[in-house]
Amino acid sequence: MIGCSKAERMKTVVCKTDPKRPSAKAIGVAAEAILRGRLVVFPTETVYGIGANAFDDKACREVYRVKGRASDNPLIVHVYSVEDALKLGRFNREHAKTLGRIWPGPLTVIVKGRGRLPETVTAGLDSVAIRCPRGNVIRSIMKTAGVPIAAPSANISTKPSSTKGEHAIGYFIGKVSVIIDGGEADYGIESTILDLRSFRILRPGAFTPEQIERAFGRKPILGRIARGTAGAKRAISPGTKYRHYAPLTPLFVYTGDRKAVRSMIRPFGKSAAFIGSDESCSFLKGTGVRPISLGPAKSLRIRVHRLFDKLIELDSLGVDFAVIEQFPEHGLGYSAMNRLRKASDHKSFSNLEELKKLLENK
Ligand code: AMP
Ligand code: MG
Repeated sequence: MIGCSKAERMKTVVCKTDPKRPSAKAIGVAAEAILRGRLVVFPTETVYGIGANAFDDKACREVYRVKGRASDNPLIVHVYSVEDALKLGRFNREHAKTLGRIWPGPLTVIVKGRGRLPETVTAGLDSVAIRCPRGNVIRSIMKTAGVPIAAPSANISTKPSSTKGEHAIGYFIGKVSVIIDGGEADYGIESTILDLRSFRILRPGAFTPEQIERAFGRKPILGRIARGTAGAKRAISPGTKYRHYAPLTPLFVYTGDRKAVRSMIRPFGKSAAFIGSDESCSFLKGTGVRPISLGPAKSLRIRVHRLFDKLIELDSLGVDFAVIEQFPEHGLGYSAMNRLRKASDHKSFSNLEELKKLLENK
C-alpha cells in the first residue's frame, strides 16, 4: 500500500513509498517537517537514517536525545551535491574532482570544517563528516527542503542499524515526526568513512577499500580501528569507542573450519542459533540448532545485506546464545567483520574449549 497514515496515540506520520520513485506527497511531508525543526526517518542506499536540518541546532540536539547517542559522537552531514559539500568543508581540488565522479554514493569523507554548522553536529571538532547519498528518498527531501541533513543511522544507540522500514518503525514510532518506509535499503550496511586528511578509513562500509583505491589512485590506510580489532583509544572517529550493533542475545563469532562447528554446537540444540551462509547452515541439519541463513556463500553482497536484519531477528527467537560465522576480510567483508567484532563485544572462538569459556562468562 502506498500512502500516509497517522499512527494512533503517537504523532508519527508513516509514509510508505517506492524508494526509487518516491511519492511527491511523502517527500513534501518530510521536507516540511525538516524545515519546521522536526525529525524524519528515511531510507538511503546504505541503511535508514534519522535526520534533522543540519543548520538547526535544536533539531540536531533532538537527534542525539531520541537515539540515546553520546554527545561526543558527531553526525554525518548529507548534502545534495559536491558544490554543497564545498560550502561546509575544505577540500583540495583533486579530492573534490574525484568526489565529483563517485558521489552520489556510499562514501562519507572527513575534512576540516568551515565553521558553518552548529557545534552539536560536529561535537565541537574542527572537522566535519560529509556524504552525498545516492538514495532517491533522501536526495528528494534535501532538494525540496534546500538544506543539508545531519543524519546518523536510524537505530537506538548500541542496537543494529535499520535496513528495512519495519526496523525503523520499531525503533522510532512515536518518537519522530515522520517515517518514510521505503522497504529494504540497497546495501544494508552503513557508508564507509574516509578521513581525507590522513587517507585513513575510520569505518569500513558499503564503499570498499578496493573502490577507494581505484577512485583516488591511492591505497587507503586500513588500521586496527577500521577492522574493529581495537577499541579506539583516541577519538579519531568518536563513534569507534562505543559498543555498537549489538543484539540482546549473546553473540560469538566462529573463526574455525565451517564443517567442524556442527559437533561443537550440537549439544546445545534449540537453545542456540547459528548465523551463516546457506551452505554452512545446511551442516547443522538434525541438530535442533536454529539456523539463520544469510544467503549463498558465494555472494558476499547478499550476506552483508542481510546481516543487520538477521541480528535484529535473532532477539525474537528466544535462544540463549548465537554463533555467527566469520566473513572473509576483503571487499564488503571488512565492513561485516568490523560490525561483528563490535556486536559480539570481541568474543570469538575456534574450538569447543574456547566456546565453553565464553559461555561460562556469558
Ligand atoms: P552513524 O551515522 O550513526 O553511523 O554515525 C556516524 C559516524 O560518523 C560515527 O561513527 C561518527 O563518529 C563519525 N563521524 C562523524 N563526524 C566525524 C568527524 N568529524 N570526525 C570523525 N568521525 C566522525
Ligand atoms: Mg550508527
